[in-house]
Amino acid sequence: CGIVGIIGRQPVSYRLVDALKRLEYRGYDSAGVATITGGALQRRRAEGKLVNLETRLKEEPLSGTIGIGHTRWATHGAPTERNAHPHFTDGVAVVHNGIIENFAELKDELAAAGAEFQTDTDTEVIGYLLAKHRREGMNRREAMHAMLKRLRGAYALAILFVDDPSTIMTARNGPPLAIGHGDGEMFLGSDAIALAPFTNEITYLADGDWAVVGRTGAQIFDFDAHPVERPRQTSIAVA
Ligand code: GLU
Repeated sequence: CGIVGIIGRQPVSYRLVDALKRLEYRGYDSAGVATITGGALQRRRAEGKLVNLETRLKEEPLSGTIGIGHTRWATHGAPTERNAHPHFTDGVAVVHNGIIENFAELKDELAAAGAEFQTDTDTEVIGYLLAKHRREGMNRREAMHAMLKRLRGAYALAILFVDDPSTIMTARNGPPLAIGHGDGEMFLGSDAIALAPFTNEITYLADGDWAVVGRTGAQIFDFDAHPVERPRQTSIAVA
C-alpha cells in the first residue's frame, strides 16, 4: 500500500500513477487518484492492479495540476471500487494508509450528527471530521489539527481541500512519509523511491508530524501544532 501527492505545473494524473507503480512492492488490492480540476474534486478508482486504473484514466482522462493517489491494502471494508481511496466528503479528498483504531466510535458520533457514509472503511471518518470542523468555522489548518487530535491508530495521510487548489495537507503517525522538493513543484510519497523520478531532495516527517505542503515548500508542525524543522536530505534512491 502507498500514498503519493503532487503539486505540479503540468497535469499530474499519469505521474501519480507512475509514483504508485514504484510502491507496488508494498502490496495492494485497489487504487485511485484524485485531482482538483475546474474548481471541483475529480477521481478515478479501480479494483485490482494499477493497469486497471490506467485503463480507467485512458477511457476518462483526469486533468488537474494538483493531486493525490493511493494503493489500498484493505483492512476495513472489501477491496471494491466503492471502498477504494480517495474518499470524498464535502469538498475534502482523503487517502490513508494504516488503521484508525477508534473509527467505530467516531462513525457513531458523526452518523448521529447526520453523516451518511459512502464506504465501509475506517478512513472515511477523516473526511467527515474535517468537513464538520470547517462547518464549525475552522480554517483548513485548524480543522486538520482538530481532526488529528481525534484519531487513534496508525496513519499516513494526504488530503486535498477543494477551496485551496495549491496545497496538500499530510500527516504521519506510524507509516513513513517523505516530502519531495522539486523546482516549483512539490511531491509527497510513502518513500523516497516513489519520488525518485521527480526529485532526490527529501524531508521525512517524524511520527506525530503533519504538514501544509505548498507549491514552493512545506510548513511542518508537531502534534501540538508547533512549527518544527526537519532536515532536508539528498536521497540515494535510484530513479
Ligand atoms: N484502513 C484503510 C482501508 O481499509 C487503509 C488501508 C491501507 O493502508 O491501504 O481502507
